Amino acid sequence: MVHFVGAGPGAVDLITIRGAELLKRADTLIYTGSLVSAELLDYVKPDCRVFNSANMTLDEVIAVIADCRGDIVRLHTGDPSLYGAIREQMDRLNALGIQYDVCPGVSSFSGAAAALKTEYTLPNVSQSVIITRIAGRTPVPDGESIRGLAAHGATMVIFLSAGMTARLQSELLEGGYREDTPAAIVYKATWSDQRIVRCTVGTLHSAASDAGISNHALICVGGFLGDDYELSKLYDPAFTTAFREGAQS
Ligand code: SAH
Repeated sequence: MVHFVGAGPGAVDLITIRGAELLKRADTLIYTGSLVSAELLDYVKPDCRVFNSANMTLDEVIAVIADCRGDIVRLHTGDPSLYGAIREQMDRLNALGIQYDVCPGVSSFSGAAAALKTEYTLPNVSQSVIITRIAGRTPVPDGESIRGLAAHGATMVIFLSAGMTARLQSELLEGGYREDTPAAIVYKATWSDQRIVRCTVGTLHSAASDAGISNHALICVGGFLGDDYELSKLYDPAFTTAFREGAQS
């Protein structure tokens, strides 16, 4: 049985309890070495076979899995459903008749919000979060350009793009964000060497360059990083919910 497991954003105690239990029971572990904390390897049994997928191809990963007896954990950073390249692995396992399941993880976009001590969905600011990336060596479908998505003015959390901030900044501005729209670069959210660089869309590229950040970071953009918003209806004394009768005015 193969278990795809989300390792969480970095801090070793942000893996789920289920994920940690699967790691403890694993006979074989294949982990994404470039982004998963090596401390997570402390969970595994002394006789667990450990492979770092950073220097493996898809064929090699599948060959290791096909060759295994017992429980295999395929450990992916954050939550496996985002930029995890798990679909291509699952399709190969389907073809080989190998059973698998998926254990979710805390994504880095949640880790970044926690690091920033912020809420992505503020009333009257944005009620939507766009998770995306800029086109690089991996192309992005035409309808999902940064420029097009920026036109929504929604909260944006941009993965895999910290090395392309010049183009990112231009596209965000062309899409309609103002120069003074707040932005933040969150490097290694929840790791011990986490860094937060606050800037605006207009200063995004210079801020990233000055900080020397070009990978392992999320770029967060939008009014949610500012101070103007409305209070929620949920805790409004005049608002009736399923659990609470609102006061009559
Ligand atoms: N599945 C992962 C994302 C994998 S793609 C998740 O849910 O988080 C790898 C990209 O995710 C990195 O280039 C970076 O943009 C982002 N990332 C992963 N961990 C991060 C962290 N701790 N802090 C900031 N960005 C991170």
